[in-house]
Amino acid sequence: MSKKPLPISTICSWQNRIDPTPDYQRPPAWSKKQKQLLIDSILREYDVPKMYWRAVNRPDGIKYEVIDGQQRLRTIWEFRAGEFALARDADPVNGFPCAGKTYDQLDLDVSTIFDAYPVDVVIVDDAVQNEEEDEVRDMFLRLQNGTTLKAQEKRNAMQGQMRDFVKSLAQHKFFESCKFSNSRFTFDQVAAQVVCLEMAGGPTSVRDADLNRMYSENAAFDANGKVAKKVRRVLDYLLRAFPDKTPELERYNVITLYCLASTLMETYVHTGTEAAVASWFIGFETERRQQEELDEEHRDSQLVEYRRLTSYSTDGEESIRGRLETLEKRFFLACPDIPTIDAIRAFTPEQRLAIYRKDDGCCQIRTHCKGEKLSWSDWHADHRVPHSKGGKTTVSNGQVACPPCNIAKYDSLPDAIEVVG
Ligand SMILES: [Zn+2]
Repeated sequence: MSKKPLPISTICSWQNRIDPTPDYQRPPAWSKKQKQLLIDSILREYDVPKMYWRAVNRPDGIKYEVIDGQQRLRTIWEFRAGEFALARDADPVNGFPCAGKTYDQLDLDVSTIFDAYPVDVVIVDDAVQNEEEDEVRDMFLRLQNGTTLKAQEKRNAMQGQMRDFVKSLAQHKFFESCKFSNSRFTFDQVAAQVVCLEMAGGPTSVRDADLNRMYSENAAFDANGKVAKKVRRVLDYLLRAFPDKTPELERYNVITLYCLASTLMETYVHTGTEAAVASWFIGFETERRQQEELDEEHRDSQLVEYRRLTSYSTDGEESIRGRLETLEKRFFLACPDIPTIDAIRAFTPEQRLAIYRKDDGCCQIRTHCKGEKLSWSDWHADHRVPHSKGGKTTVSNGQVACPPCNIAKYDSLPDAIEVVG
């Protein structure tokens, strides 16, 4: 790696040697205000964060891929090309008025400050192709999210049942529908993140340190326990919603969609809602991308905020919570008719007695028994139409079930929440 200050005039004349969008880049679009602020800082000779470029040998000479600094670079080029002006209320620079001016309208003394401004550029040499690729990706991820994929590699080496559970979860077919590949154990990482979110019961920080702690504190994790079953059911649900490769399923989207689906399965009658979730989500992402083409004034402020939240620290609790709130608000507006599951799930003692008498204490399911009379201390009050499918907690929807039949019935439902005894 080498660090050198490059004057903006050089950065501008090198424009065709620089590729601002290699495939590991996904920075947010800047608003006009952000662009004006950068140029203003340059003209006042404030520090601008350094850029990271990667030198690549191409048949037509050395090119540079931008690892970090794409928006700054584009802004510099756009200003030099006269594509936007400084803010109408910009203060003069060294006594020369600048407000509302484009590059060509600036006094020569001021445009010279711009041309000569040295931008610190760290150039990563493209020596060892494959390892370098991973390292550049890692560096980019670290700059973007404060996380690296190497951390998951290290977690995979930790001992314990959490490690084993996450490893098996990473094999879930849903991950194959996502945009990202499994290079550097991305499936494992996202699988670990959704387990962490499920254990917290909603948005929580899922950075490397949080995942490491989860692995070490849950070395005795029960892979057949309630959390494990729920995570699998949510991923099954998401797979039914997205059976094919879906480019919109980026990493940061998957963790918030997981939270949305988890809530949906916990509180709403979700059976048969997969298609609605999928088409709503694709529509949301399409609208979001269309926003980028609009002028700032015409953008939906909620989506601008959402974009901001996807652009940094996407594994932090605040970002996840903010994104999830937008998703939930929009989903329930788009699909207002999804009913909640009856809030009262357990039968009252009065209901239990009525159900026991109604069915004469005999199991009504009879898949694992012959329907013999059960003792008062050993029967389950079962929802005939399962609770997760909107069955009410009423005597008419209640029936006597022996424990083996009851448990088998709920295990056979792909999305049952738990046995309601
Ligand atoms: Zn039975």
